Amino acid sequence: MIHLERDKKAAFVSIGVTAFLAIIKYFFGILSGSIALTADAIHSLTDVISSVGVLIGLKISSRKPTKAFPYGFYKAENIVSLFLALAIFYAGYEIILTSVEKFGTVVLTNLPFAIAAALTSLVFTVLLSRYKLKVGRELNSPSLIADGKHTQADTYASAAVLLGLLGYYFGFSSLDAIAGIFVSVFVFRAGYEILKDAIKVLLDASIGYESLNRIREVASGTYGVRKIRSLKARSSGKFMFIELEIETNLKDLERAHQLSDRIEEQIKSEIKNVDRVLVHMEPEEKEYIRYAIPCTENKGLSSKVSGHFGAAEYFCLFDLRTADNELTDMRFIKNPYLALERRKGLKAAELLVTNKIDKLITKESIAQKSAFYVLEDAYVEFEETDADAIEEIVEELKA
Ligand SMILES: [Zn+2]
Repeated sequence: MIHLERDKKAAFVSIGVTAFLAIIKYFFGILSGSIALTADAIHSLTDVISSVGVLIGLKISSRKPTKAFPYGFYKAENIVSLFLALAIFYAGYEIILTSVEKFGTVVLTNLPFAIAAALTSLVFTVLLSRYKLKVGRELNSPSLIADGKHTQADTYASAAVLLGLLGYYFGFSSLDAIAGIFVSVFVFRAGYEILKDAIKVLLDASIGYESLNRIREVASGTYGVRKIRSLKARSSGKFMFIELEIETNLKDLERAHQLSDRIEEQIKSEIKNVDRVLVHMEPEEKEYIRYAIPCTENKGLSSKVSGHFGAAEYFCLFDLRTADNELTDMRFIKNPYLALERRKGLKAAELLVTNKIDKLITKESIAQKSAFYVLEDAYVEFEETDADAIEEIVEELKA
């Protein structure tokens, strides 16, 4: 709550101060006949308009989606910006035209007032940029920091205006027109920034690399997500639409549904202004299936299958390649919990889960034992066998 208020307050302070500067610069610009001061007034006005535009855009874009506009009105803001940018370019063009026309013929009056106005503008612009950068960094708001940097660069325009007027005072009469042309660069820059952002959003450009990485991190950290196949995100106005394609080993629809809800929640809690997250799920593509069988000895394929689970001497783990059912890996793990009095089954189950087994084959049923729940939680499947040796089971599985 406090967060939002400080954000808004900074925006209003910025608009207020910049509007005030635009007015005094325009007034004294006209009064003195200074092209540069008038040009900088127009520049400040474009800055005010773009800030107000953002606020109005937020209002329009917060309108609820309708049947005819199911994706909302977010882009209304960007369409407004497009027209705004064109108007600003025109203003820049006018400033250059005037500067060139009056080059060398400028006659300034009321010079002390004009100089005072330019100095006021310089001082306030410096203070305003510092304020916005400070609040922006404290709130970790990229848009406010970007805005602060814009204002920081604007101090060069204000300084140029002041230099032009002082130059005129010391006899360099064309400096004011030169400063006017210099200021027009800032007007064009403001227009370009607005135009670029608007076009990017209108053409569904991807969001920044950093945000994409953050989303990837949050999604892959969610339990049940095995792999992220693709991630796309675009902005619409101030909001983000995210499309995720993931691989999961969940087979139950109910659980898969919960997983997609959880991913969406996580992303929305970590990243601001996310409108929706679309999660497309695919079954995990496995290169092999890993089996585990409790056994009494470590003699390769001829090892005998144990009648117990927790009390088995060894666990035989092997991989069958899904493409052709070939045995690709086999190893034996000595049961380290054999000597425990209690909970050896549970411990053994945890050991097998950390070894990422997919299927457990046993002689005795472990259903309803604590080991069962550990394995079930990790989506391990179960099978019972009456085979005596590992070899028989492998042959059966291959066939
Ligand atoms: Zn500016």
